[in-house]
Amino acid sequence: MAVQGVIDRYRPLLNIPEYTQTVTLLEGSTPLIPMPKIAEVLGKGCKVWVKFEGLNPTGSFKDRGMTVAISEAVGRGAKAVICASTGNTAASAAAYAARSGLRAIVLIPKGKVAAGKLAGAVAYGADVFQINGSFDDALSLVVEISNRTPIALVNSLNPFRLEGQKTAAFEICDELGFSPDWLCLPVGNAGNISSYWMGFKEYNELKGTPKPRILGVQAEGSAPLVLGHPVENPETIATAIRIGKPARGEQALEAAEESNGRIISVSDDAILSAQCMLAASGVWVEPASAAGLAGLLHEIKAGKFNADGKKITIVCTGHGMKDPDIIAHSMPAPRLITARAEDLEAAILGEK
Ligand SMILES: *Cc1c(COP(=O)(O)O)cnc(C)c1O
Repeated sequence: MAVQGVIDRYRPLLNIPEYTQTVTLLEGSTPLIPMPKIAEVLGKGCKVWVKFEGLNPTGSFKDRGMTVAISEAVGRGAKAVICASTGNTAASAAAYAARSGLRAIVLIPKGKVAAGKLAGAVAYGADVFQINGSFDDALSLVVEISNRTPIALVNSLNPFRLEGQKTAAFEICDELGFSPDWLCLPVGNAGNISSYWMGFKEYNELKGTPKPRILGVQAEGSAPLVLGHPVENPETIATAIRIGKPARGEQALEAAEESNGRIISVSDDAILSAQCMLAASGVWVEPASAAGLAGLLHEIKAGKFNADGKKITIVCTGHGMKDPDIIAHSMPAPRLITARAEDLEAAILGEK
């Protein structure tokens, strides 16, 4: 069967209205990449896969939810959509809106959105506004506007976003032929962890596929679900999860508890080092996307997680190309040499 995007692939399993008019960029069906080098570091006889969601059409998992949210909005006759965004939602909303001829309006926290994401939103033709405030402030504003006007809200408060995003859980089970023991992923506004848990629960009821345990990972400076209260000024280098008041916080805590898993936090340094580790296996992800692996390493090191013999899926939510500045910051500039073969040869042979 040809790949047709997540709505066509899983339509009977999606709780969406009859009037939905599919708008797709053939998102989903992302690769589940075996990571043997990382498995070796984590434990004896364990198996690790990365679900590389950075390979969706706009470079993040947001496309899974956006295809459904925009399709529903188009079906009901909406003319414009709005979202608050740390970057990837904006790019995704803009792309799907462009495809269907809707106006996309996005609101971002000034100075806190990676260049590759903002550029995407602009390239797809969105109306981008920024505020001197956080993502959480931006979200309150767009919720208010969507209540006052016919503009459709496409943040993950929109239930159709979750319907689309749960398809990633279906894909993992379909591809492996079983479900992993653990699923590890970053948690920001907490729509994604909630979606995965919905998906795994539904497959469990439908097909008897066992449910995995879920390890949700926040950044230390932005960890409301770990601290148990909102964070007024969230800070982290992982801008996609720089969120102090997660809209789906309750649901995320439920997912962690029901799955017999947990939500933890890790430092920015741990996130950057997990990002390097993934890149060393050929998978370059944006910082937030490395949080799942960072959390796993953190738990193993603390003696709270025995990975021996386990089957583990790490969700890498977005592509490294979205946020190239992070690498520019943490890596030395390439060594400058003169444009002569002898110099190049000496440089190659000389230093390691
Ligand atoms: C949106 C996003 C997240 C966080 O997902 P939530 O559903 O908000 O928890 C993590 N990583 C990337 C790359 C994202 O774009």
